[in-house]
Amino acid sequence: MQKLVEFSRRYGSNPELVLAGGGNTSMKEGGILYIKGSGCSLSTIRSVDFVAMDMEKLLTICRKKYPNEDKEREAMFLADVNSARLPGEEHKRPSVETLLHALFPQRYVLHLHPALINGLTCGEDGQRAAAELFPGVIWVNACRPGYTLAKLLADKIGPDSNTVLLQNHGVFFASDTPEGLEKLLHNMMTTLKSELPGELPEKLDEVDLSRPFTPDHIVYCGVGPELPDTKNAQLLYLDAQKINWYSRSFGGPHPLSEELVSFILNWEAESYRKKQA
Ligand SMILES: [Zn+2]
Repeated sequence: MQKLVEFSRRYGSNPELVLAGGGNTSMKEGGILYIKGSGCSLSTIRSVDFVAMDMEKLLTICRKKYPNEDKEREAMFLADVNSARLPGEEHKRPSVETLLHALFPQRYVLHLHPALINGLTCGEDGQRAAAELFPGVIWVNACRPGYTLAKLLADKIGPDSNTVLLQNHGVFFASDTPEGLEKLLHNMMTTLKSELPGELPEKLDEVDLSRPFTPDHIVYCGVGPELPDTKNAQLLYLDAQKINWYSRSFGGPHPLSEELVSFILNWEAESYRKKQA
C-alpha cells in the first residue's frame, strides 16, 4: 500500500501527466482491489482514499446481462460496482474506471490522460500510428464509458496485455512492480516525443471546445461558448490546445463525436466527478 500511495502521489504531482482530478491508480492483493476514490486528487492521496473492493464480484459484472437503455443500464451497473465494496467501505465512491483496473491481471495499474499521449489518441491517424509505434498495445475506439467500455475491454484484454490506449481518453499501464509501470510510461512518452517536429510552441492555437477531445474537457470546461471562470477550466483548456498541437503529428485533431459528448453530459458518474471538482 505504501508503494501505491508513493507512486500515485509522484505521478499525480507531475502536470505533464495529471491535471485536476484526472487519472487513477490501483493495486491488487489477496483478492482485493484497492482503487482510487472518484474525484480525489492523486497528488495528495492517502491510503484511506483508496476503496477496497472484492475482485471476484467486480469480474462477474462483465459476464452479466444489462438492459440496452442507457440510464437503466448505467444505474444497474453502478449499483453492482458499488456492491463490490468491502464491508466498511460503503461511504466511499470508487473511480468511474474501477472495472477497467480489475480486468488487468497485474498487481499495479496506472491510468493517465497526458496531453502528449492524447495527441495520439485524439489523432485522426492515431490507431494506425499506435500499431506502428507500439506493437502489441491494445487500442480501444471511443465508446460510451461505464459498462460499454468495460465490456469492450474485457473482450480485448489478454493475460499479457500491459498497455491499453483509449481513443479520445488516455492510457492504461499494468505491471507487477511500480518500476515496470515507470518503464512502460517512460518508453511511450519518449517514443511519442521523437515523433514531434520539435518542442511545443509557446503560443498555441485556440481550440473550439464545443468539439471537446476527451471527457475531462467536458467535465471541467463544459461545452458552452464561455469557458467557466475556474483554475481547472483554464488548465484543461490549455491541455486541449496542447492535444490539438500534438495531434498534428498523428493525422490531425479528432474530437469526440457529438453522440458521445451528449452521453457523457448526461452520465451520472461524470456529474458526480464534476461536483467534486
Ligand atoms: Zn480516465
